[in-house]
Amino acid sequence: MSRIASVLLPMPLPEAFDYAEPEGMGLAVGDQVAAPLGPRLLRGVVTAIRDGTGGNRPLKPIAHRIDDPPLPASTVAFVEWAARYAADQPGWPLAMALRGLRAPKPKPERVLVPTGAEPKRMTPAREKVLAAAALEALPAPRLAEAAGVGTGVVKGLVDEGCLAIEERLPDRTPPVLDLSPRQGALNPGQAAAAKALNASFDAGGFSATLLDGVTGSGKTEVYLEAAAHALAADPDAQVLILLPEIALTQAVIARVAERFGSPPGEWHSAVPPPRRRTLWEDVAEGRARIVVGARSALFLPFRKLALIVVDEEHDGSYKQEEGFIYQGRDLAVARAHLEGCVVVLASATPSLETLWNAEQGRYNWLRLAARHGAAVLPEVSLIDLRETPPERDHWLSPPLVQAMAETFERGEQTLLFLNRRGYAPVVLCRACGERLTAPDTDSWLVEHRYTGRLVCHLTGFSMPKPAACPHCGAKDSLVSIGPGVERVEEEAKRLFPEARTAIFSSDTMFSSQSARDLVEAMERGEIDILVATQAAAKGHNFPNLTLVGVVDADLGLRGGDLRAGERTFQLLAQASGRAGRAERPGRALLQTYAPEHPVMQALSQSDRDGFVDAEMELRRLERLPPFGRLAAVILSGPDAAALDAFARQMASVAPNTEGVEIFGPADAPLGLIRGRRRKRFLVRADRSVDLSAYMAAWRARVRPPGQIRASIDIDPYSFL
Ligand code: ADP
Repeated sequence: MSRIASVLLPMPLPEAFDYAEPEGMGLAVGDQVAAPLGPRLLRGVVTAIRDGTGGNRPLKPIAHRIDDPPLPASTVAFVEWAARYAADQPGWPLAMALRGLRAPKPKPERVLVPTGAEPKRMTPAREKVLAAAALEALPAPRLAEAAGVGTGVVKGLVDEGCLAIEERLPDRTPPVLDLSPRQGALNPGQAAAAKALNASFDAGGFSATLLDGVTGSGKTEVYLEAAAHALAADPDAQVLILLPEIALTQAVIARVAERFGSPPGEWHSAVPPPRRRTLWEDVAEGRARIVVGARSALFLPFRKLALIVVDEEHDGSYKQEEGFIYQGRDLAVARAHLEGCVVVLASATPSLETLWNAEQGRYNWLRLAARHGAAVLPEVSLIDLRETPPERDHWLSPPLVQAMAETFERGEQTLLFLNRRGYAPVVLCRACGERLTAPDTDSWLVEHRYTGRLVCHLTGFSMPKPAACPHCGAKDSLVSIGPGVERVEEEAKRLFPEARTAIFSSDTMFSSQSARDLVEAMERGEIDILVATQAAAKGHNFPNLTLVGVVDADLGLRGGDLRAGERTFQLLAQASGRAGRAERPGRALLQTYAPEHPVMQALSQSDRDGFVDAEMELRRLERLPPFGRLAAVILSGPDAAALDAFARQMASVAPNTEGVEIFGPADAPLGLIRGRRRKRFLVRADRSVDLSAYMAAWRARVRPPGQIRASIDIDPYSFL
């Protein structure tokens, strides 16, 4: 009987294509094959097999099977599910699932093994080589080295047929993990949480748990214990730990290595492609049992997932905004559901969506109320900038400077938190009033003094700071407006010339190594004042850090989108939580112009629950997530008139469904990026509506003409 294989290609195509299976190939779902598309042969994955021939339209045959591990069926199901959820082409998530295969296969090593043939003439040097080769199969140069002879001796033995060349792959035996339980080391609250998690494993099947504990309460300890339990229960089980930022992975990798006696697999964009390839294969073949990674690790071909941990689950970095648009935390829950495994969402400041699921009883809810050991939560106070403003063109107010002086005198560390990279967020011409923007983009250029450049954080465009205004030509007229971390560091240096300062931001930590160096310098007490963006606001434990100063607590509230209050609360609570992580008590000072704002009040009273209740009530009234669903359509194109016309056409064909409201089209707040104009629709739907299906149906009714692009963002986090 002939069979038809549906093959999905990792590119933006709407569906899998059918091919004829050549006789005797014996394909199965998940197999990787080379399939012809036009004149080319492309890698694809079999998503379905059925009997048949394709009727009167003869199908092209699959060219051959690719010798790479197949995707497990559950990974294929996840790829298809993710595409449906995102209302996007399934080739996108497949491309993510195959990303590890971009580097070539690791090459086999050519090693030498004794054939047993005696050399015609035996010498002491030859004897040494044969003895070393009998011990271990090595490549020629290393064999010569091991025997302490020249490579000529080795070559002679090969020529005489006493040593044979064999190809061997590098040893990939999985490491032995220390999975002994450490329940005894946990404090009573942690032990109770670990026990509850272990019980959900033992019950089997899917379950989701919110691990809700204040910063420093030992959430990491608890989920590592749960991981040990899961790995010990089944020799094939695999564990995935997701983190929002690369800067955090190093700290967690070190802890995992310490706990299990062997480092985990590491997966994120900074890992070089050959290492990604090896990890991809190790995951697919079950050798990698623990993976620590960024959101894209969710698409790895796990054979037997037992546990997914989403650490700092509230973090906005789980949302991928470009290419395939998805929310990593939500997809983690979906994947756990498809795999029938346990997912743990950990945070000190959980997202409203997750708290709501926990309140509804859909997720288990484990709370860790206190910090481990003697550490206590920092005292949070507000500094009213209207009453005690900094001097002109300064950013640190007298009460904060006073606290920094006290901290410095005691030999303790200060963290100044400002979520703004560079020196100044805006450069303005005093002569003509123009603010400098990137070419063809509605985004201000940010001044970076370390590099002397003006940088667009949106597009990556940069240029040297000009001597004259590019608009009116006035000389020396450009002034820097507002502070970034570099400017705050400059001020801190001026105030405390003997203090050692450093900056922690994505500009100063371009590699995992530079992040590690900075964290270690901080831990060793070699830095007195650390000025940091959100890259340092979470995850790290600095025992001697006792003061956190938030330079501009109101910053995140200004955008005013749906999550502005929630995000500000989370970020500032996390930043404040960096203080006083060991025996020394800490304090956090928040500079604000709006001390009466509910977010500031909740922070100063450490009243997370009160804040969450009030915020939930607002969302309920406005029927916003988690009480309703949102999606956005972003249209872009080089020509404003054509874009307007397409937006109107799209509006006119929107399906009419009860419980769905459409707002727009409107010019996007970022109306121009790289010469492309942008327009947006916002869609709000009742929870009962399948919004993904609605958006897919809407998109299917139009075809963007020419250079216009339409992308759909389910559950948008950015409204720009
Ligand atoms: P969280 O993940 O909740 O922020 P961590 O797991 O990072 O908390 O724990 C905070 C600090 O307390 C870490 O330095 C950790 O090693 C320490 N710690 C937590 N629980 C224990 C424990 N049971 N025994 C020893 N140290 C602990």
